[in-house]
Amino acid sequence: MRPLDFPNNIQIQTTSFCNASCGFCPYPETSRSLPMGTMDEALFRTIVDQLPGRGVVLLQPFLMNDPLMDKQIVPRLAYMKARVPEARLNITTNGALLRPAVVRELARLDLDSIHVSSNGLTPETYRATMGLDADEVLANVNHLADALRAAGSRTRLIVTALLLKQNRDEIFLARDYWRARGVEFFLNPLNDRAGNLGGGRFDAMLPFDEDVNRRQLLHYDMSGCPNLYAFLGILFNGDLVTCCMDWRRTLVLGNAREQSLADLWHGHAYASMRELSDTGRLGERELCRRCGENRFSIDQASLDDLVARSGGAEEGCDAPSASVRVARHLSAVQAQEPETFKLNLIRPGSGERVSGSGAHEGASR
Ligand code: SF4
Repeated sequence: MRPLDFPNNIQIQTTSFCNASCGFCPYPETSRSLPMGTMDEALFRTIVDQLPGRGVVLLQPFLMNDPLMDKQIVPRLAYMKARVPEARLNITTNGALLRPAVVRELARLDLDSIHVSSNGLTPETYRATMGLDADEVLANVNHLADALRAAGSRTRLIVTALLLKQNRDEIFLARDYWRARGVEFFLNPLNDRAGNLGGGRFDAMLPFDEDVNRRQLLHYDMSGCPNLYAFLGILFNGDLVTCCMDWRRTLVLGNAREQSLADLWHGHAYASMRELSDTGRLGERELCRRCGENRFSIDQASLDDLVARSGGAEEGCDAPSASVRVARHLSAVQAQEPETFKLNLIRPGSGERVSGSGAHEGASR
């Protein structure tokens, strides 16, 4: 398969830091064990100056971090917008640093979309899932929604959540809460970031009872990957990684300080990864082999089966288990409002392939 002449989907990690400690994210661990830093302005501009007129469709100034941790993020967004106006510009943030001054600037910038990763409504759930203060974040996001409206901005404001054991009882309240405020809401399934979520944390966040969780864990053959032909991820120090799964930087494919992006894209390191992909041998790289494992899904048939089986077992019982309550609600939502939740449902045997979350707009930091 031929790669694009130039990657059309680019993420730039302008800083490697994040202010949250989400249970579903490898950051709390990798930030302690790997070098961290903020991209210097010269490198940032060198990178962005190579992008105009190259067919970039999606440009996102974050990768495994929170973009608002970069104190220069507003002028950097403005620079990207001015230099590469043809690309869609998006940020994904946890929302904790959406302070008034930043909100004012974001409302003026007219980005294509701002995704807020938000996994609950109550202080307890927010603390348990993200280590953040719920009141502060919800106030920030409401403030941003108001500011965008007042500015007549075309920016789409989207709240995204993961379905987790810790938030399953309020996820539908969260959907209603954001919907009532005119904010879009997407729900995504959990994955273990190609094995980078260690120490039993992944298992502890799976949303259902053990047997249901087991049946909802899907495994994909990642012997080939479209990311390698269209996506470029650049870390704060200029290192290039294959995708947002490579939290431990195990597959660095060159450095943007040393060569042009075009030369790197068509250079030996990418070519050898693509050769593995072309010949179905990507599994020879541990990261890619593990990328297809532990993809949680929310399959309609399994949900319906769970509800049916539990209905029989619980006859005469007034209080269905949390798994059953959530399964009923999810099943109903999927049947009645398939567009409301973007669950990334991929059924085993459907022939569809996981494309690697690095290529998904706003799906993951
Ligand atoms: S297979 Fe997975 S880990 Fe490997 S490059 Fe693709 S998305 Fe990244």
